[in-house]
Amino acid sequence: MTVNEKNAQIQELAQQIIDYGVKMLKAGYVTGTGGNISVRVPGEEAYLISPSGMPYEELTVDDIVMINFAGEIIAGKRKPSVEQNMHRLILKNRPEFNAVIHTHSCYAAAYSSLHRPLPVFLDVMHCVFGGAVPCSEYARIGTMELAQNVEKAMRGTNVVLIANHGCIGAGKDLAEAYGNVELLEECCKAYFAACSAGVPLCISDDDIRESIADLSKRYGQ
Ligand SMILES: [Zn+2]
Repeated sequence: MTVNEKNAQIQELAQQIIDYGVKMLKAGYVTGTGGNISVRVPGEEAYLISPSGMPYEELTVDDIVMINFAGEIIAGKRKPSVEQNMHRLILKNRPEFNAVIHTHSCYAAAYSSLHRPLPVFLDVMHCVFGGAVPCSEYARIGTMELAQNVEKAMRGTNVVLIANHGCIGAGKDLAEAYGNVELLEECCKAYFAACSAGVPLCISDDDIRESIADLSKRYGQ
């Protein structure tokens, strides 16, 4: 790949961050300048991330910041998101993920205040998340402790509830990461609905294990 092709690829990924920022804002998953989004720079120990405190609809690719896995800013004129370390630790430790999205969507944020995992009460949860959705231990916004707690809670899954804050999802690309936080929000909403009508019954560990094994052979094209 030539330098020009590499630059074009980075610009394209920076534009995707902006597009998904606008998408999550319009979906109501954040308000104002809340939330943050990152993508891995292909083939490098670095990632791109949304800037701190700037409206998504006003961003241009020049506002996106590039940071290496040591946490040093290597390109960009803006201050990066305060949650830069949360994105960095996930992308650094989870090579299967290339994109991370953090939102404050209403039902996930509400559930995160309970400080407990969202149990597998819908089949789709173990198909997509691999099981129950953990809730990270509480830490203050933008701290290294928060980054470490979230990375730890996310081991073995692709979404996490962030205590008293919101949620985060990762995927092989931004479309998948977005789909995961979208589904988590729908699951949290459905859980509250179920609780208002009774006590939701959860799917057994045996059924979860068998479903995962069975679907790995049969699902998809
Ligand atoms: Zn946040």
